[in-house]
Amino acid sequence: MVYENPDGIRIGLEIHIQLNKLKTKMFCGCSTDYHNAAPNTHTCPVCLGLPGTLPVLNKKAVEAAIKVGLALEGEIAEETQFHRKNYFYPDLPKGFQVTQYDFPIVSKGKVVIEGEDGEHVVGITRAHMEEDPGKLVHIGSIEKSKGVLIDYNRSGMPLIETVTEPDMRSPKEARRFLDKFRNILEYLDVFDGNLEGAMRVDANVSVYWGTRVEIKNISSHKGVERALLYEIMRQKNVIRRGGKIMLETRHFDEGRGVTISMRTKEEAEDYRYFREPDLMPMRVTGWIPAIKETLPELPDAKRARFMEQYGITDMHARSLTSKIMLADFYESVCATGVDPKTAATWTADVFLGELNYRDLAISSYDGKTIGFIHAKDPGIENSFKVLDMVELVTLFAEGKVSDRAAVEVIRTILDGTEEKTPSQIIEEKGLFKAEDDMVTRAVAETIAENAAAVQDYLGGAEKSLNFLVGQVMKKTKGTADAKTARELIEKELKG
Ligand SMILES: [Zn+2]
Repeated sequence: MVYENPDGIRIGLEIHIQLNKLKTKMFCGCSTDYHNAAPNTHTCPVCLGLPGTLPVLNKKAVEAAIKVGLALEGEIAEETQFHRKNYFYPDLPKGFQVTQYDFPIVSKGKVVIEGEDGEHVVGITRAHMEEDPGKLVHIGSIEKSKGVLIDYNRSGMPLIETVTEPDMRSPKEARRFLDKFRNILEYLDVFDGNLEGAMRVDANVSVYWGTRVEIKNISSHKGVERALLYEIMRQKNVIRRGGKIMLETRHFDEGRGVTISMRTKEEAEDYRYFREPDLMPMRVTGWIPAIKETLPELPDAKRARFMEQYGITDMHARSLTSKIMLADFYESVCATGVDPKTAATWTADVFLGELNYRDLAISSYDGKTIGFIHAKDPGIENSFKVLDMVELVTLFAEGKVSDRAAVEVIRTILDGTEEKTPSQIIEEKGLFKAEDDMVTRAVAETIAENAAAVQDYLGGAEKSLNFLVGQVMKKTKGTADAKTARELIEKELKG
């Protein structure tokens, strides 16, 4: 199947990620750990942009950028340097942002995604380093706000801005790209995507191969998909009514799910870029071999290995490697010697499904316990132990618990506040599978007590069988396997 892209949709993304795993900011010693701090407490003369201060480049930020570039299969520049991007805005007290212009550290990379028609390559135009400005906090909505507060804790956070080619052909592909990109960054351990403001996306989109519109500053992957769906519909409507699409910048209102015109788009010359005189050009070619050594196994390679080593399906391998911490959790479970295929089903299908249903995002893994926080309320936390999964998979494989009961155990652990093992939960809730003789006895009793239904069934009324199975389930308090009960009744009555 070849995807024809009938509406000529082209989507390109610009993604800002904060290197929030680094200890200090881009050009000063201020701590990057500001997310729970009071406003303007993680600042110094450098990141406040006071006159006369000089930046000192954080070497670790450069190393992280190279790591990202290598993982994106990009070219690392032999010589790279910083520029000043001049503009006036309250979030940028010194009047310019230190960024990279015509010598970005990374160019020409790629990311392979699961596209509309199978594997699809999204080109990476460039990735460069820059500093984050401060944060404006609007009181109320951005359009109606009467006042703006400024928090400079974020000012000077190291960022990498990655620009893609307009290679995505649907909002779904854009979302898949972002999922994959975030996944790669988390494998590299340069970035914690659960922190507020860790990833911000600008999306360029055009229809019928026409003029592009930029949507600024979208904060979630779901938001990007929704903003693009809306914007594509809006552009098509404009064209249908005989109008023209203007080159402009729009803002996405998450609450209402619409994009709003902000301004006509500025071009690069408006910014008067010039070389940053306080930072020397850098030659980083010599660093590359050592950094290459530190690259971990990346998602695609891990997925291929999982299929090979554990004999699991592509779909399971894809889910399990979609988060590095989930992949590690799964491998710890398998390392105990349980059946990897059963473990994959329970981890990728049931466990991950229950997490998604509860809006829980995986946030930690220490080799024994995987932790998660609520995507919207980080105050809600919980965890799940490797040993609990091992115990559950073992009980299931031995036929001691039914499907339904095993799901119930996972739910109980995820919703519970007390620490309990699967066996304890199964014991307390009476979830052990009924012993065979107990089911046999229940079948015999049911047949004896329901002569009319038995006659109906023997007379050809198939649905009477359902009634009889229901009676057996009732007698065994739901612990019998329905399929077994059905077979036993049929065998008893029809031989
Ligand atoms: Zn500072």
